Amino acid sequence: MTPPDAAEGLRRGDRVERLEIGDAWLVEPWSGREGRACVRVESGRVVGVEWLDGSGPRGGDGERERVEPSHARGILVLPGLFDLHAHFREPGGEEAETIASGLDAAGRGGFTRVCLMPNTEPPVDSDAGVARARAAAEASGSPVAAYVLGTSTRGREGRALSPMGELTEAGAVGFSDDGSPIPDPALLRSALAYAAGLGRVVIEHPEERRLTSGAEAHEGVPSIILGLRGSPAAAESGAVAAALAVLAEVVRDAPPGATPRLHLTHLSTAASVELVRRAKAERLPVTCDVTPHHLALHDGWLGGDRRFAWEAAQRPWAGEPAAALPYDPATRVNPPLRSPADALALAAGLVDGTVDAIATDHAPHREIDKSVEFGDAANGISGIETAVGLLLHAVDAAILDLMTVVRALTTGPRRVLGQAVAPRQLGGDAHRATATRDGPFTAGALADLVVIDRMERWTVTRESLASRGKNTPLLGRQLPGRVLLTVAGGRLAYADPQFLAADGTT
Ligand SMILES: [Zn+2]
Repeated sequence: MTPPDAAEGLRRGDRVERLEIGDAWLVEPWSGREGRACVRVESGRVVGVEWLDGSGPRGGDGERERVEPSHARGILVLPGLFDLHAHFREPGGEEAETIASGLDAAGRGGFTRVCLMPNTEPPVDSDAGVARARAAAEASGSPVAAYVLGTSTRGREGRALSPMGELTEAGAVGFSDDGSPIPDPALLRSALAYAAGLGRVVIEHPEERRLTSGAEAHEGVPSIILGLRGSPAAAESGAVAAALAVLAEVVRDAPPGATPRLHLTHLSTAASVELVRRAKAERLPVTCDVTPHHLALHDGWLGGDRRFAWEAAQRPWAGEPAAALPYDPATRVNPPLRSPADALALAAGLVDGTVDAIATDHAPHREIDKSVEFGDAANGISGIETAVGLLLHAVDAAILDLMTVVRALTTGPRRVLGQAVAPRQLGGDAHRATATRDGPFTAGALADLVVIDRMERWTVTRESLASRGKNTPLLGRQLPGRVLLTVAGGRLAYADPQFLAADGTT
């Protein structure tokens, strides 16, 4: 592999003048193709992709080739990943993360596009808030694209709609009160209708708060053994069912050409996924995402179990001595880590297309907010840098296939946001013009890709994370898939220092 520049000292944000990746495993979800290929980049743009098995590119999802284990286990080249759901805490929580540190962490995790959740202090509920977030992203010098979401309701208070037109005008790509659901069905109904008129999606955090008051963990055997107050699965699925019922009504009453769109974020239970499956069968315009931690971890982790969900599925943790100390505050997250069976149901939803996207719900926290008793700890896992590793673990375990994972991190999120990130909407924006209809590996497109050493393992440590949030239960754990290089919009977002050194540059 030729390093990403002949010149010494290529730095983050610099244009990648010359990059040649020979004989890697390329995954291209736009055409549904994966296989051995060479990729060449010059002056920040893709100049050619040569598939090495002799045939030209093929279209159609059904025609994709089966993975060749030996090559698929070497160097992977993927389109730049797209995170639909990240909390960068600026303004108001800069000790936990800033937009600049978050974009750094994103590049390191292989992401070239990130949606910033608007539940900051103050929340992003005005055009000035959107402009401020966009300016901070610009000022960071990171080439990772930051898409800003506005709140659904004013002040995230759940009482009146946010100024959605103003927010859209300022560049908001969708609306969400994430952190809380919109508590009033009548307001959700208005939000869906207004957002539809603006061509924007409403992203809901489904939670029936009357069932989760004081909850610390998923309600199940581990929560009972540990004496933690439970959050029942029904608190989520009940909220999902209610939101879908509202959506159905808004769809029925919608004027032609303004289809309301509801996106349900961080679904964590089997019942929620089943409800979305049925809603999609009825052609309701709903999409959903799941997180890497809800796919790979489970409620046994609160008791110190450190097996992955698929390993624990046959014999869930039931109080026996475990690999780690119980009550690790890093395992506290909302929605809570669920049962291993729930985790497997999320994976099945991805495989059959019910689940559209994988979103990290990257939720960095200050040490002081996490190093406290379990029940007092802030909810959230710093996850944007460990997502790829957890998902490759799931691929290794044959729970997910590589193409499904890559789709859920590239084409899936684009589908969720719809016209807000469609190429024609972004025509004037040179950076975002990489979001072409045919994907970033089209000749002439700005290079937007991530190179991963599939088998190389790395240890998650506080020092290894670029995020200010070190709150992850994966500290000390080895993950497969070292990100070697992330190129966003033709510019360097991240390069592994050892990788550059090995190739003879700085
Ligand atoms: Zn949420």
